[in-house]
Amino acid sequence: MKILEIKNLTKIYGQGTENLKVLDDVSLEVNKGDFIVLLGPSGSGKSTLLNMIAMLDTPTEGSIIFEGKELTKLNEKQKSALRLKRMGFVFQFDGLLPDFTLLENVNMPYIMAGKKTDTKAKELLKNFGLENMENKLPSALSGGEKQRGSIARALRNNPALILADEPTGNLDAHKKVYVFEDFAKLAKQGITVIMVTHDLNAVDYADIVYSLENNKLVKTK
Ligand code: ADP
Ligand code: ADP
Repeated sequence: MKILEIKNLTKIYGQGTENLKVLDDVSLEVNKGDFIVLLGPSGSGKSTLLNMIAMLDTPTEGSIIFEGKELTKLNEKQKSALRLKRMGFVFQFDGLLPDFTLLENVNMPYIMAGKKTDTKAKELLKNFGLENMENKLPSALSGGEKQRGSIARALRNNPALILADEPTGNLDAHKKVYVFEDFAKLAKQGITVIMVTHDLNAVDYADIVYSLENNKLVKTK
């Protein structure tokens, strides 16, 4: 089942003679439950592509259709609602709020969606082996624990799509594979994952791999 379709997407930053074309007529179809890895050298436009799917940036040309909705046609309120309810985000830095416990952090998206907390956050923390950490502040957690916590938070509102930008950039080599395994597992459960990384080890865990080269997407797996 198709969940995301990118059609003839072009992104040009700046204007006049200072133009920088980052994406040139990029098209992509993504099915539910795909674990997609996006490789490419620094500055090749990986984050730009992810940001446009996340509706944090707008295409110069082309369209992005997510769960049947043309994203560029939505207003800001619709965009934030869709982002909060259907997408989960994981970044290089865990982004946990320092003054809140791990459990409170994981519950944050749910509270922001106007819901009263239930047991889901605790279940998520248990799934990630963090059940004994729920009342700790982020500063009391290891790097790996914080990153698992941020993945748990990204899953809080049952997203259809996880967007991850260099989620292992800040982790030791042996811990990166846990994150790749986690995403592969989530994809098997039907959650679509698009992950930007520099780490070629991720290729083994991905269903599909693209590389951004010369402003175009090249399928390499
Ligand atoms: P990657 O994620 O592959 O490292 P990015 O998508 O961050 O690449 O950046 C692609 C190119 O676009 C880079 O040359 C970067 O400097 C440029 N760029 C990114 N964001 C902006 C912006 N807001 N304004 C102008 N140029 C930008
Ligand atoms: P540290 O940064 O202190 O080494 P980590 O949180 O990275 O701690 O890892 C501690 C242990 O937790 C690992 O050795 C591994 O056994 C387990 N672990 C790490 N990541 C995961 C995961 N995603 N799911 C389940 N267990 C994990």
